[in-house]
Amino acid sequence: MTPGSDALAASRRICELMARLDPAAEGYRLKASMAELYPWPRSITGDGLRRTLDWIGDRLPGFVRREVLTGTAVLDWEIPREWTVRQAWIDGPDGDRVVDFAAHNLHLLGYSVPFQGTLPRAELDEHLHSLPEHPAWIPYRTSYYRESWGFCLPHATRSALPDGQYTVRVDTELAPGALSYGELLLPGNDAREIVFSCHVCHPSLANDNLSSLVVAVALARLLGALPARRWTYRFVFVPGTIGAITWLAEHPDAAHRVAAGLVLANLGHADGFTYQRTEAEDAWIDRVLELRAATASEAYELRPFSPFGYDERQYASPGFRLPVGRLTRTPHGEYPEYHTSADDLSLIRPDRLGRSLAELLEIVEILEGDGVYRNLSPRGEPQLGRRDLYRSIGGGSDGRERELALLWVLNQSDGARSLLDVARRAGIPFRRIREAAEALAAAELLEGVRA
Ligand code: ZN
Repeated sequence: MTPGSDALAASRRICELMARLDPAAEGYRLKASMAELYPWPRSITGDGLRRTLDWIGDRLPGFVRREVLTGTAVLDWEIPREWTVRQAWIDGPDGDRVVDFAAHNLHLLGYSVPFQGTLPRAELDEHLHSLPEHPAWIPYRTSYYRESWGFCLPHATRSALPDGQYTVRVDTELAPGALSYGELLLPGNDAREIVFSCHVCHPSLANDNLSSLVVAVALARLLGALPARRWTYRFVFVPGTIGAITWLAEHPDAAHRVAAGLVLANLGHADGFTYQRTEAEDAWIDRVLELRAATASEAYELRPFSPFGYDERQYASPGFRLPVGRLTRTPHGEYPEYHTSADDLSLIRPDRLGRSLAELLEIVEILEGDGVYRNLSPRGEPQLGRRDLYRSIGGGSDGRERELALLWVLNQSDGARSLLDVARRAGIPFRRIREAAEALAAAELLEGVRA
């Protein structure tokens, strides 16, 4: 056993997992899960969120749901009151119900305070939200930190409301309770952690972010079923912003443990991936994603860090500086259906979901297998034919890539460069580089320096 042999075996296990995965069939299963979760009225607190976390827990042995009480100080924030909706509707002048939370949970402004009363059309209008540019869609709006009530509705409906008196009922409750979040820890041979985080607070929106929730659960199930893992994996399911802040407040030592991480969002729609770098811009995870961008069959766009976006901005704050990037397909706000009722299940492509899961396995395969090696015959090229190292190499471009991988690993393994460095420089998929390292180690031409 050399320092790298565990890592190479761990990486090979991920590769074997991937060989058994049928992304298309898996994508249909993932979309079916999304359909189950889609109608639930989630928010940053409350029973819709709790029920969603319990759904995750039912699928992930070892998953823990945590509750942090209202009023608890978390970093510079405070856990808000818990929000419960019983009913919310508007009746028009003729008594017809014009908007009803029971019909679509986006109809109610998130965190609306209770209200009951009758008011004229013009006054009601101050509490209405719609999208003139998409008159058939319901916008998603919240007011977590400013007390307010409101309704969201298609602009076409709003424009057609006649003058007259409207009866409004917002039967909600804001009361001391708790904020819920959940996490799963999968211990590995190394206590350093790879973190996957996604926000789970949105009500009936599909791509943002039920897509990533079901993909993360599927990834956690696959990794959890492995006989061994090199790294420790932590899956974090939190309400956006306040949930990530709460998680950080409860894991003040995270900065010492987290070796790499990804915030996952919007993984069910559109072709290709967008990766936003960590604050450091050249962390290990950034280099892994650079390699994927160079070698993946799907297109990749790499973007610099920005302190605007999802929970990566909390993880990147100067008191933590966790090496966490963000992987999406289309980023937030860059598809027209974003934060509207049109981000529904019809937007979700099963093959994209399945391929998002496969892509995360590709990333994990690199994380598990990276390590630094030394060529044990560094003076001139060792004679590969004599050692049967060409035997498995067939003709065609596949054989040439295998041969090239052997030569790259031999040339670059000077005890300082890692297999990830070799793959990036060669522009060869990590799997080939890892297979070459395994073959060279078996022929006693390569030894692990550090994993
Ligand atoms: Zn969102």
